[in-house]
Amino acid sequence: MVPGGCLCGKIKYELNDGDYTAGLCHCSICRINTGSAFSTNLFVPVSSFHLLSAPETVSRFEIDGTRTGSGFPSVMCFCSSCGTTLWAEPQNPEYAGMEIIKAGTVADRAWLEKQALKVELFKEDGLAWVGDLVGKEKA
Ligand SMILES: [Zn+2]
Ligand SMILES: [Zn+2]
Repeated sequence: MVPGGCLCGKIKYELNDGDYTAGLCHCSICRINTGSAFSTNLFVPVSSFHLLSAPETVSRFEIDGTRTGSGFPSVMCFCSSCGTTLWAEPQNPEYAGMEIIKAGTVADRAWLEKQALKVELFKEDGLAWVGDLVGKEKA
């Protein structure tokens, strides 16, 4: 099992060990949510994600489809105590059955290093100065 959690420790989760797709997202929602130029995500099947904290510790913010790059709503799941966003639950059928884990919340750095960065989403919406920082083609 691979541990993860928020800054204050109120929300903890585990992922099954495995090889997941890692992807950057440059959409405006991710920029605001992370306070950064892009988000870094792991695409994990729901069956491989285990919330260890009580479900009521997780706060949810739904973004309606008029604001997302995909046109589908998405739900950001975060800790109301420390503000960390831990995962998103996209309503896009393309991601049915997947949790989009915010990669920075994974506590095992060595494990995270082994996950393959494969995609960049909404690169056209991103900041030009990010450039080809990761040297990957647009998905
Ligand atoms: Zn927290
Ligand atoms: Zn995004």
